[in-house]
Amino acid sequence: MDNIKYNLPEKEMPVSWYNIQADLPEPLPPYLHPVTKQPLVPADLAPLFPMELIKQEVSQERYIDIPEEVQEIYRQFRPAPLYRARRLEKALDTPAHIYYKFEDVSPAGSHKPNTAIPQAYYNKKEGIKRLTTETGAGQWGSSLAFACSQFDIELKIYMVRVSYNQKPYRRMTMEAWGATCVPSPSPDTGSGRAALAADPNNPGSLGLAISEAVEDAAPRDDTHYALGSVLNHVLLHQTIIGQEALKQMEMAGEYPDAVIACAGGGSNFGGLALPFVRDNLTKGRKTQIIAVEPSSCPSLTKGLYAYDYGDVAGMAPIAKMFTLGSNFMPPPVHAGGLRYHGMSPIVSHLKKLGLIEARTVNQLPTFEAGIQFARSEGFISAPETNHAIRAVIDEALRCRESGEKKVLLFCHSGHGHFDMAAYEAYLSGKLSDYEYTDEKVKEALSCLPAV
Ligand SMILES: *Cc1c(COP(=O)(O)O)cnc(C)c1O
Repeated sequence: MDNIKYNLPEKEMPVSWYNIQADLPEPLPPYLHPVTKQPLVPADLAPLFPMELIKQEVSQERYIDIPEEVQEIYRQFRPAPLYRARRLEKALDTPAHIYYKFEDVSPAGSHKPNTAIPQAYYNKKEGIKRLTTETGAGQWGSSLAFACSQFDIELKIYMVRVSYNQKPYRRMTMEAWGATCVPSPSPDTGSGRAALAADPNNPGSLGLAISEAVEDAAPRDDTHYALGSVLNHVLLHQTIIGQEALKQMEMAGEYPDAVIACAGGGSNFGGLALPFVRDNLTKGRKTQIIAVEPSSCPSLTKGLYAYDYGDVAGMAPIAKMFTLGSNFMPPPVHAGGLRYHGMSPIVSHLKKLGLIEARTVNQLPTFEAGIQFARSEGFISAPETNHAIRAVIDEALRCRESGEKKVLLFCHSGHGHFDMAAYEAYLSGKLSDYEYTDEKVKEALSCLPAV
């Protein structure tokens, strides 16, 4: 019998996260303070994050224990299955072997609870009563809402307005888990009011919603802020994905030639890929590691590697990353989770060192891939995930031409059950592609901070 999925028993779920900082050939550039432009010290972050997360952000320890309480909630849905995409392989008539790590099984339907749960846990332990955050497509907001419900923490979510309007069911899931959700820009903060004064129809952006959430949290003793991607501790928590996948690939008796994931802020990509980067660095493996981003928001492929603000108002720490400029307003494509101007410092650093590569795909081909996946594998994928699927299908079709039996592994980061309006728009011919021009690159990059 040919196996279709590989399930790890609960007792084999990894009990530590993998920290790539221990194995980097060159250390990460430090974060800078948004006002003084000096390297950040831990105390600078204390108004926003609990000390355990600040320590993880800069830790050089190779493995960090997953707390028992976090493991217990992880086990509600982990280990996540690894699928062999036999039906898709057949539909493509490819000699490639395609595997995917299936993160749809979490309560929120994506990989994001992998970090939401430990973030809520460490805040609770430090006595925090309330969290604020931003959300794009609503995947992160609903993941943190779920995690906060587990630890009895109040949550206020600033949701990018274009997604708030496109995805009412996401807002309802957040409310079902007990969170409050407002469209950003909102009249509740100074940065929101400024954006609305300049343009009452401002569609919002992740960078702007971050400003609002940070501005809300920073002055309050009972409130911290939580970020769902980009930061080192987020990628650290997500490495549970890749560590499980390594064990499951071993069960399948294969090792990937290429590891592929979509990249918005870089967390599901990092989560799957970092343990494989480790094997490249320390075990002489030569796995190809590929990040896939939208043509409309191509930070890794067309951005500048520079110090930039993480948010529009310049309140969040300055990070060295591939960026399109913090004022960049990406077009309202349906992959809301990929509409961020920057890229995780870890992923950016790996790109700069030539340890990973990046590709772009346009909106229409991603939905075409998502439909092909749905009609072969059955699962309806998030628009973000469709970017990874597009790249995998392209790779598998190249294998059909060349006859190569490559082993491809990708992250199925989440389901698309709340994205059916986007599918409807695609199927009725109302979606368009967005190309990012070099002129727009120049314009967006004209506002980088002088450091
Ligand atoms: C948020 C999200 C992404 C993009 O975020 P990353 O931090 O780049 O992983 C991708 N897929 C899904 C399903 C998401 O919810």
